[in-house]
Parts: sequence; structure tokens; C-alpha cells
Amino acid sequence: MPKTSPFSENYNNSIIGILGGTFNPPHLGHLRLAEEVACVHGLSRVIFIPSLLPPHKGSREMAPSSHRLEMTRKACADNSLLEVSDLELRMDGPSYTVNTLRMLQGHDVKIHFIMGTDSLREISLWKDYDELFSLSNFIVVKRPGVDFRAAWTEVPEAVRKKFRQDGETLVHEEFTTILPSPVEGLNISSTRIRNLLKEGRSIRYLVPEEVRSYIVEHQLYGK
Ligand code: ATP
Ligand code: MG
Repeated sequence: MPKTSPFSENYNNSIIGILGGTFNPPHLGHLRLAEEVACVHGLSRVIFIPSLLPPHKGSREMAPSSHRLEMTRKACADNSLLEVSDLELRMDGPSYTVNTLRMLQGHDVKIHFIMGTDSLREISLWKDYDELFSLSNFIVVKRPGVDFRAAWTEVPEAVRKKFRQDGETLVHEEFTTILPSPVEGLNISSTRIRNLLKEGRSIRYLVPEEVRSYIVEHQLYGK
């Protein structure tokens, strides 16, 4: 018997995307990415999963989880395609994508984990990265300046060897796939937004207005 869904609905074998990230803060790049990937790759829902402190990112400049979760909820509120899950924030200690993907095994959903080429090229910093790719399908979106091929060559060879090429798709020996998406990310990052805020400059039109006013109200990322 498949386990019941950890999300708001049972997705009954539909294909859902998972977008993990720190969302520090969430921005229009994340939203546009989810919207476009869902449309191009036929996903019925994209679930944003804010992570606890990522072990390789350090704690400087990280807004508390409660604020990141709230901003992500505000960012996704007006789009029924998007859902926000606090499942990683409810865990004790740092959250690891591999644990989340392990936890989702056996549930009645087909998962595609969405990431940018910048994340793919850093995959060897992720816990149990060699196992990650056998747990889920991946959709990799081009982030400005980093094309898929360049990112892929930075993945340790021991992992790359487990894949064969089938057209554009990379197929793992366990039959999961990595799909280089034709979707191109907008040139927006949370780092850029935090830097603008530190300098006291405007972030209008880079984040949803509700996120901007939340940042102002709670005085996040100030000087
Ligand atoms: P930071 O600058 O703090 O690293 P970020 O903008 O990269 O923040 P994250 O929360 O780290 O945002 O990103 C979560 C996921 O979304 C990552 O896989 C990242 O590659 C992807 N992503 C973020 N912004 C974009 C974008 N503009 N286009 C495409 N993918 C993106
Ligand atoms: Mg990032």
C-alpha cells in the first residue's frame, strides 16, 4: 500500500516538482522557474520546500526559518500550482535533500526534483550526493552564466559514470533521469537581493510585492 501523501493532497500518481532551497528571500526567479518548468514538463504541482540551515552555506545573512517560510508562503499564495511544505523545517538539525527524497520513497507520487545548474555543479557538497540521483528524477534549469554541460563536468566522475545518454536525457543505472531543461532562469538571485538591501537600494520588481513589504516590516537583511 502506498503511504499517504506528506503534502496537502494525495497526488495519486501525478507528477510533481520539488523545489528545495533556502528562499532567503524567495524571488521572482523561483516563481517563474516553477511556473515555466511545470508548463514545459507537465507537472501538476510544484512544492517549495524551504530548508534549514544548509550545512555548506554557513549562517551569516540567513534570515530565521520562520521568516523564510512565511515569505515563501506569501510568494506562492496566489498560484494554485504552487504549494509550500515545512517538512524540512520541522526536522531537528540541518536538513538534507537526500533525507527528504528518502522519506518520499514509497509515496504515491512521481517526483521531479528541480534545481539550477549552479546547484548541480556544487552537488558534491550535498550529503550522500551519489545516492541522490537514484532516489528521484531531476530537472535542471539553466542559470545565467552556467550551462548544463559545464555544470555536469563538475559532477564527480564516479557519479557521471552511472549515467548513459538517451537523447537529451541522462539515464541512471537505477533508471531515474536527469533532464536538462530548455527553461532558462531569470537573472535574479537571493544574494543579489540581500546585497541591494544591505546597500539600502530598491528590490522592487525582483520579489513579489508581498515579500518586499514583509522584508520592510520585519527589517530583514538590513545594514
Ligand atoms: P542564494 O543567492 O542565496 O544562493 P538563490 O537565488 O540561488 O539564493 P536558492 O534558494 O539557493 O536561491 O535556490 C533554490 C533553487 O532554485 C536552486 O536549485 C537554484 O539553482 C534555483 N534557482 C534560484 N534562482 C533561480 C533562477 N533565477 N533561475 C533558475 N533557478 C534558480
Ligand atoms: Mg543558491
